[in-house]
Amino acid sequence: MVLNDLGRKISGALNNLTSAPVIDTATLDAVLKDICRALLESDVNVRLVQALRQNIKKIVNLEELAGGVNKRKIISKAVFDEICRLVDPGVEPFTPKRGRANIFMFVGLQGAGKTTTCGKFANFYQKKGWKTCLVCADTFRAGAFDQLKQNATRSKIPFYGSYTEADPAQIALEGVEKFKSDGFEIIIVDTSGRHKQEGALFEEMKEIRNAINPDEIVFVMDATIGQAADGQARAFKSAVEVGSIVMTKMDGHAKGGGAISGVAATGSPITFIGTGEHMHDLEKFSVRPFVSKMLGMGDMQGLIETVKDLKLDENVDMAKRLEQGLFTLRDMYEQLSAMLKLGPISKVMGMMPGMDGDMFKGSEQEITNKLKRFMTMMDSMTEEELDGDGKIFNKQPNRIKRVSLGSGTFPEELEQLLTQHKKFAMIVKKMGGNRGLMKAMAGQD
Ligand code: GDP
Repeated sequence: MVLNDLGRKISGALNNLTSAPVIDTATLDAVLKDICRALLESDVNVRLVQALRQNIKKIVNLEELAGGVNKRKIISKAVFDEICRLVDPGVEPFTPKRGRANIFMFVGLQGAGKTTTCGKFANFYQKKGWKTCLVCADTFRAGAFDQLKQNATRSKIPFYGSYTEADPAQIALEGVEKFKSDGFEIIIVDTSGRHKQEGALFEEMKEIRNAINPDEIVFVMDATIGQAADGQARAFKSAVEVGSIVMTKMDGHAKGGGAISGVAATGSPITFIGTGEHMHDLEKFSVRPFVSKMLGMGDMQGLIETVKDLKLDENVDMAKRLEQGLFTLRDMYEQLSAMLKLGPISKVMGMMPGMDGDMFKGSEQEITNKLKRFMTMMDSMTEEELDGDGKIFNKQPNRIKRVSLGSGTFPEELEQLLTQHKKFAMIVKKMGGNRGLMKAMAGQD
């Protein structure tokens, strides 16, 4: 996903701390330089990068730290916290209440993914049992109403719009009034994202806002717009009260740091991220798991919660072992089997720490097939092999031949499996060994 490169560079810089013989000001400066360069290369605004550097230097005052304290841990935690601060304005987003109308007004530039996001957002709440509906107040773009209608119909969500009424504020008001009196709880209003002049767009936004008096104005921002994000976010924020942000196209290959800057510019929290063009490609956003995932530590919390949600009790034990830093081939088998049950596979993969992105490229089906082949190979392993750390295959290469013959796979595939397992095991070991730090990072202390 987007920001992977940034994460890799930052964790690379932090890993340099582990190999440094002493941690002094020069080491800290070198690490900070690498981190700041990575952030700038990802389009994070230069002011924010400078502030981050200063904050970390303030928190990690090496001269004042007593001897014996774990400086590496303090630096890593400061870096983690400061990166979290970039995407966390420390403001709680609006939370809808049951049994009353909660009006969400969506704003953003055309092409940002507003209409798609309105559909996904409606689908999200509808699935959770809220009485949800959609209103199209975009009279500027031909086809906007049809697009919204299509999404709404597919998800069986009531909608309102007009082919003839030209006044968007009027349509928005009519739709909201109608759905309010019908007892709807989540009323989502999609607005136009383009006008001949920017001033007119903002004027229209204000008119709609005044007409419907929304509980929350959601700013939809394209994560791929780079440096432009800062200015764009400021412009929207100065026109209307942006309450929260949905960042779209996080599945793309853009650098994404610009979007982070945009978030900082509005001072509003991100509530969801869009990760694809389909209805289910919307993920709830939480700062610490997001940063943890970006830094290649995986979203263990997310994974464990998803597993618990599905009441796959057999995996609760595994979660405990993971926390202790142990990871056998059998654990990998159980993990893969849980992932296949959880689906969509590309989503769950992102939560796994140490998942090799290059090894698992391709369509949903291709990735699923690959995982299934891994499991077929493990089905041909002995108990001893499954309960071990995989080294037995290096010591006795004949076992590789036996397993691949038995499972109808190629020895290279088994090598790949063992490489992937080694990566998992290494990360899990690190996490187990660093339990205090991991907990701190996950916000549990
Ligand atoms: P609007 O003009 O802001 O209403 O934008 P649309 O909802 O029409 O979306 C513009 C394009 O972006 C469409 O092709 C969408 O399928 C695509 N899109 C929206 N959200 C996402 C996302 O999260 N990921 C990807 N890859 N594409 C998206």
